[in-house]
Amino acid sequence: MVAACQKLDADGLNRGSSGNISVRVGGDMLITPSGVAYDALTPDMMGRMELSSDDENCEGPMKPSSEWRFHRDLLRARPNLGAVVHTHAPFCTILAIARRPIPAIHYMMAAFGGSDIRVADYATYGTAELSAHVVKAMEGRKGCLLANHGMIVAGPDLTRAVWLAGELEALAHQHYHTLAIGGGHVLSDDQIADTARSFETYGVRSTDA
Ligand code: 13P
Ligand code: ZN
Repeated sequence: MVAACQKLDADGLNRGSSGNISVRVGGDMLITPSGVAYDALTPDMMGRMELSSDDENCEGPMKPSSEWRFHRDLLRARPNLGAVVHTHAPFCTILAIARRPIPAIHYMMAAFGGSDIRVADYATYGTAELSAHVVKAMEGRKGCLLANHGMIVAGPDLTRAVWLAGELEALAHQHYHTLAIGGGHVLSDDQIADTARSFETYGVRSTDA
């Protein structure tokens, strides 16, 4: 998890102490601590929380990420997901501020399980309300934007989730610049479905399996 956080920093996908990640371990999740910059993280700072528990009980020396609710709720709702990554990646955040979903402007959209990246409605960070918006925007998807906040991706494991974080930022970057020249051509649902099928043998999983 520390290496994943450091990679997110090195790849320019996060800033300061914003962002957080979680990993499913049996019936629990491991989660990054709140308010610690990624370059100061150490393995012993990770917290362990029961996925079935509704309270903030966390085993570990520090307070869990303030976003533990959406990490827990996504892992609960989606048994095939093994890791959740949340960052304030620059271009994702720009589109999230403008509340612009990302349409299928590139075939890599197929890696996210559908033809678009939705924007979860705004709610204050760390709230159950935000978590409910996130679970809804992530339905059938492995990524979404968070209005006036950032982005979330989730995958079967942490390596895949970190990879998706980079891919989502690339789509956001492409969409932002394409909008500046009048907007891009959007691929059809069939074209994205064809790509998703092709990914099954390419090694890029388009479903949660
Ligand atoms: P934490 O430091 O509590 O994980 O919060 C950072 C953040 O991005 C809140 O949305
Ligand atoms: Zn955040």
